[in-house]
Amino acid sequence: MTHPAPVLLWLRRELRLADNAALTAAATSGAPVVPVYILDDDTPGAWKPGAAHRWWLHGSLSRLGADLVRLGTPLVLRRGRIGDVLPALVRETGASAVHAGTPTEGWARTAIEALRPELGAPLTLHRTITLFEGDAIRTKTGGPYTVFTPYANACLAAGRPGKPLPPPKALHAPGKPVRSDQLEAWHLLPTKPDWAGGFRETWTPGEAAATARMAAFAKAILAGYDSTRNIPGVEGTSKLAPHLHFGEISPLQGWAAAEHAAPDAPGTASWINELLWRDFSAHLLWHHPNLPEQPLRSAFAAMPVRHDEHDLHAWERGHTGIPIVDAGMRQLRQIGWMHNRMRMVTASFLIKHLLLPWQAGEAFFWDSLVCADLASNSASWQWVAGCGADAAPFFRVFNPVLQGQKFDPDGAYVRAYVPELAALPNRWLHEPWNAPADVLANANVRLGATYPRPIIDLAKGRDRALAAFKALREAA
Ligand code: FAD
Repeated sequence: MTHPAPVLLWLRRELRLADNAALTAAATSGAPVVPVYILDDDTPGAWKPGAAHRWWLHGSLSRLGADLVRLGTPLVLRRGRIGDVLPALVRETGASAVHAGTPTEGWARTAIEALRPELGAPLTLHRTITLFEGDAIRTKTGGPYTVFTPYANACLAAGRPGKPLPPPKALHAPGKPVRSDQLEAWHLLPTKPDWAGGFRETWTPGEAAATARMAAFAKAILAGYDSTRNIPGVEGTSKLAPHLHFGEISPLQGWAAAEHAAPDAPGTASWINELLWRDFSAHLLWHHPNLPEQPLRSAFAAMPVRHDEHDLHAWERGHTGIPIVDAGMRQLRQIGWMHNRMRMVTASFLIKHLLLPWQAGEAFFWDSLVCADLASNSASWQWVAGCGADAAPFFRVFNPVLQGQKFDPDGAYVRAYVPELAALPNRWLHEPWNAPADVLANANVRLGATYPRPIIDLAKGRDRALAAFKALREAA
């Protein structure tokens, strides 16, 4: 008996059923659908998924697999270079076509273009990850944007790109079952069970949880998001970043849901603006595939940075002696996510006060964030380092004490993540090294014993950073 040729649905970062143009195209072809996820650890240039990313991926694939079975066809898991695995799968299944989402990462785009001629079936890419394709929004002269505000204005002028697509009602399975790896055999979960305890308490990967989080955010936070988004001690943001990264919800669904829930609220405009920052980062990566490694402003490659493992480890572990920085880094370790304001503060501290290479911080975030995203992570690190597009000027150095006092005035955030300082009064919480001895004693704080002394004098660190920047400018 002959079976009709199936179509391959290659899922990468659109691990959802709704508003998935690649899935819709596969479903409406009428052919049986073989959905496949390829764990690619090997393609040269690939940024290997970090530990937190792998934890999330396990949960996401497990739930997507169950959702696809409910629709009628199982998810196929394969491991290896996409350039080897995908053509082999086309041969094995006799697929007549392949549908996938357009990747934003340069290495994935290169790998896809290289495999096309040998694929043995036409490959159609669909916009599934971003609001606009990387080259869809152009300046008047047809080039890419380098500044966010005109990019965002051009996106808003183009308008919301349609309505989200509904999920297909059913999918046909191929006549002949296709072999799949076992998800457990990929060992994506950490070997130390305690490592992900905070992750499990905070997150539920998968499309259903993403939809529920969006609904809860739209109901409780969105309308006032423009004022709550900068306060790390309250639940004032959506925490949708990992769901968006893995494509368990699309940015278009987010935009549409926000407009539906609170069409005229300033919070809605502000939140859509953040979705456009996400798109802008993808736009930058599209046009600058070396964004994760090379400064966009090439002169910054000569910045006289330090290489100091001791300081780097203190930063990574949240033991710098600067409470707001340590709170941010410990939040990252505990739940694999850090508030945006704290990402800016901790990144600035690493790059400027410690004068370490931004790429070292970028790599640590990459390994630690459940929402680690090549475009947003590298664009944001370059933004803080002053070497990216539309970047904050290098000479604007965040003072972490003032940042703490301004954005965590009641100390709720620092107390949550740096409990050894919890009993300090607000006046001294963000600068315990200046606190009188009796205040420290009353709060059971012994600097250098229960909590570290600052690894850097903030004024000296700032001066050293500005001197390095001056040297860079003079050398240019
Ligand atoms: P919300 O405030 O609810 O925003 C909604 C969504 O908009 C986010 O989920 C995210 O997808 C997008 N978004 C918000 N702010 C930004 C931004 N500045 N740039 C790009 N997209 C944005 N975001 C990532 O998704 N992955 C990363 O790896 C990442 N690394 C970062 C590294 C640094 C040094 C900095 C300063 C920022 C980084 N960001 C990254 C951007 C931002 O901090 C997070 O997207 C945001 O904190 C996620 O929390 P949320 O979902 O509650 O965001």
